[in-house]
Amino acid sequence: MTQDTSIMNQPLTLLAEDELIFRDSVRQFANAQVRPLVREMDEHAKIPKALVRQLFDLGVMGIEIPETYGGAGGTFFHSVLAVEELSRVDPSIGVLVDVQNTLVINAFLRWGSDEVKGRFLPRLAADTVGAYALSEAGSGSDAFALTTRAKEEADGFVLSGRKLWITNGNEADVFLVFATVNAEAGYRGITAFIVERGTPGFTVGKKEDKLGIRASSTCELILEDCRVSKANVLGEIGKGYKTAIETLNEGRIGIGAQMVGLAKGALEAAIKYTQERKQFGKAIAEFQAVQHQIARAAVDVESAMLTVYNAARLRDAGKPFLTEAAICKILSSEVAERVSSLAVNLLGGNGFVKEYPVEKFYRDAKIGQIYEGTSNLQLQTIAKQILG
Ligand SMILES: Cc1cc2nc3c(=O)[nH]c(=O)nc-3n(C[C@H](O)[C@H](O)[C@H](O)COP(=O)(O)OP(=O)(O)OC[C@H]3O[C@@H](n4cnc5c(N)ncnc54)[C@H](O)[C@@H]3O)c2cc1C
Repeated sequence: MTQDTSIMNQPLTLLAEDELIFRDSVRQFANAQVRPLVREMDEHAKIPKALVRQLFDLGVMGIEIPETYGGAGGTFFHSVLAVEELSRVDPSIGVLVDVQNTLVINAFLRWGSDEVKGRFLPRLAADTVGAYALSEAGSGSDAFALTTRAKEEADGFVLSGRKLWITNGNEADVFLVFATVNAEAGYRGITAFIVERGTPGFTVGKKEDKLGIRASSTCELILEDCRVSKANVLGEIGKGYKTAIETLNEGRIGIGAQMVGLAKGALEAAIKYTQERKQFGKAIAEFQAVQHQIARAAVDVESAMLTVYNAARLRDAGKPFLTEAAICKILSSEVAERVSSLAVNLLGGNGFVKEYPVEKFYRDAKIGQIYEGTSNLQLQTIAKQILG
């Protein structure tokens, strides 16, 4: 029997040596540098600049960027590991890194010309945060109903419109902005533009005050006669819908990783607490009812993790992963909500106060079912693949 040696028949959760070293370095960083800041970042709804700098130094802000451009030369699976490990401690830091890698850098790598890559990838790897601006007030799930216009002129395009809900809006210097060059052409008019902070006519507007992932900035963007040169079109004119669809399919796996990390963080906190807290003369972890709840949560976390790892490894292997990515996002976001809710219950009154980490995980979990395609939209994708 001949074997396809290009496919590694290894268990999904068995990490290669480089993956293990990378994961452990991110885990160590998250525990030492992020954990002490979590509560303050949540309360002040802000990520300190110094922490963003440290993330660049750690090498998690340009994971898939080739070493020739100053990046880490890693895989998509490395990005998933980084997002998971950071989210285990703080899902806000997880999503900062996720958007940078699985959406922004991913789009530049796939759609950027050599000139565009040469101009932006070294900066994105070294010190520049990116943001991905598709959504608007009137176009969320129906993303391609966007109304931001890009009027072509001799030397470039003039962009006008407003974007809403843009992650990393506060920290970013490079924004991927989706606008239409021809509203009558429907989705075929959509084009991706690279807009830099400081460009006349471009401003970052109000920051949302959120239920969860409060430290992650979510901002409005305002474009008023904002001139962008032709050299700042990412990919082809009128092909922005493809850029959006393809990057978001991959981004969804990153959100799956964020939710798996979150669920792991909540479960770990619950395990620690139930082994220490005594009622009726013994640790509450000794009660079978509690043991079964924890075991059930472990089943949830393991199954969600397997779907995330499988989707990521399929992507790295160049195989189709559309359905798998949708499945991993819906499952892991539901698991994150369930497990963090259980963690709140298992900590009793302490689960409900900010002194313990689980109420924040519970608040943070909710976003997994909303951004990068709501759960209904994921179900629609899965159903379409199954039913044709
Ligand atoms: C914290 C945060 C960060 C974000 N970051 C970014 C970002 O960086 N970049 C960006 O571009 N966007 C971002 N978003 C936007 C996000 O992707 C949208 O909020 C999301 O896609 C949902 O769109 P909407 O809010 O307009 O809800 P709607 O589309 O109005 O949906 C409302 C409800 O209707 C349901 N619904 C809609 N259409 C259908 C349908 N056809 N069938 C069944 N149910 C349907 C939805 O499932 C949902 O339950 C972010 C949002 C948040 C809250």
